[in-house]
Amino acid sequence: MLINQSIIDEIISRADIIDVVSKSIKLKRSGHNYLACCPFHKEKTPSFSVNSIKQFFHCFGCEESGDVISFVMKFNGVDFIDAIKILADTYGVHIPESNETFTPKELQQKKEHKATLKDTINKTVQFFRNNLVNSNIAKNYLLNRGLTNEVINQFLLGFAPNDFNLLEKLFPDYAKNQFLIDSGLVIKNEANNKIYDRFRGRIIFPIRNTKGDVIAFGGRVITKSEPKYLNSPETILFNKSQELYGLFEAQKSIRNKNQVIIVEGYMDVIALNQFGINNVVATMGTAITDEHIKKLFRLCDNIYYAFDGDNAGRKAAWRALERSIANITDTKAGYFLFLPKEHDPDSFIRNKGVNEFINQLNNNSVPLSSFLLNQLSSEVNINTEEGKARLISLAKPFLEQTKAIALQVILKKQLAKIVELEPNVLESILNNRSRYAFYNNQWKNNPQLPVKENIIKINLVEIIIRHALHNISWVINYKLPENINFYSQEIQELALIIDFIHNNYNINDNIELIKITEYIKSPTLNLENMYNNNNIITLTEDEFRQTLDNLFGLSARKVIKIPKIPMKEQSNE
Ligand SMILES: [Zn+2]
Repeated sequence: MLINQSIIDEIISRADIIDVVSKSIKLKRSGHNYLACCPFHKEKTPSFSVNSIKQFFHCFGCEESGDVISFVMKFNGVDFIDAIKILADTYGVHIPESNETFTPKELQQKKEHKATLKDTINKTVQFFRNNLVNSNIAKNYLLNRGLTNEVINQFLLGFAPNDFNLLEKLFPDYAKNQFLIDSGLVIKNEANNKIYDRFRGRIIFPIRNTKGDVIAFGGRVITKSEPKYLNSPETILFNKSQELYGLFEAQKSIRNKNQVIIVEGYMDVIALNQFGINNVVATMGTAITDEHIKKLFRLCDNIYYAFDGDNAGRKAAWRALERSIANITDTKAGYFLFLPKEHDPDSFIRNKGVNEFINQLNNNSVPLSSFLLNQLSSEVNINTEEGKARLISLAKPFLEQTKAIALQVILKKQLAKIVELEPNVLESILNNRSRYAFYNNQWKNNPQLPVKENIIKINLVEIIIRHALHNISWVINYKLPENINFYSQEIQELALIIDFIHNNYNINDNIELIKITEYIKSPTLNLENMYNNNNIITLTEDEFRQTLDNLFGLSARKVIKIPKIPMKEQSNE
């Protein structure tokens, strides 16, 4: 199977590496990097780093590195094509069959399918709206939150009572209506083939595309249940990484004001609209994407992010900055408004009034350059030389990323001032190519490059344990050193295994795996796997002894690389 390069590019642009990796392992942010314990080798302190700007990962322990596609390949143990398929699935990219051509009849069918899907959705919008009119609980909920009937109608708000098969009332063929499933309105339980409504007990926010067609729904609970917000899944009509809530209503105003305000929630969009601020949009349960930003920069030159004042809002703002910096040119600008901790735009404008909101937006928004340098400076001790040096290295990838020459100059000027260097000195520091830059170029220019395909990495401890379990005599001949450097739990457990064999076995005995496993109770080592794993590498008794000495001594954190055992060529066709 061949996949078109444009599809691969599309996937890379949609699949944020932080998003992808954090679904698999827990990441902790540090500057533009996110750190974790490496999923590809065993370790106790994090040396696995993911760079959100350059969209690639690197492990300083085992030296694995690559882009989002290589990560999926490694982590899921799949080849390039399958990694592409996994990501395409997650991010709603359609991969055409390699010989996908349609007859006029098929094209007509596709068109009709889409049209019926839209009809199904439109019928449901009306149904939900009628439910709202007839539900005092739902109406009161919205009125208590300060919404007017006018804005409720403008945004087509509706209500889905708490009923598992409510839509059966609207669609008599509910049980076998494929369009209900395709639109995401009902969910099919594959285990028992039962179907039920996705939205139950929720205020409904119809989501429109830029033409004004409703293509999906968002739902908010009116009681204290979870999740608070729920959206339609990706469908052939709805692509979360491209659509923005409120954009249909906001387009004209965005053009006129040459400015857009991005907020986090549906209620923020609605509240601002109610108070006459119409150039507002929100993302839908995802971080902002390159496509969102590009879309908005086609309409105007100035993006204002008005996020919640809490920690989550700050995090979202930082992610928005990371995405914006590559998309900003010298005619485009990004600003960040941080509201007081206890407020989101909805509560702020209702409490303080529209004038105060506009005042904040005009006078308290921080330009992207200041937000960037303030945030990075707060992560180092700027009063020390080390802190300044670290700030330069933190800022460098952001500088490299921006295509806006003027912004780059401003950033460098501000940075030079903060770190107290002459601009030309700073410039020469920045011009040393980092190893990040090196890796990044390699992967970005050649995304099809497989991850060091001919090399696999094997943990030495695992090799040693396998040999120990198969060669009791070697272990008995080996004398444990007096001083062992227990720098990891693995080493501790390795010593325990050797000690256990010393105390319980004779030279000609066979190992009883169960007994050792019982004794060690290791959370990190799977002895059975190691015992049965008979490929890889064979040591002599001498090498075994030397390696053990190494592991227990100082120069131990070595991972060896050996050529992969030749396998049948994987076909890419
Ligand atoms: Zn590693």
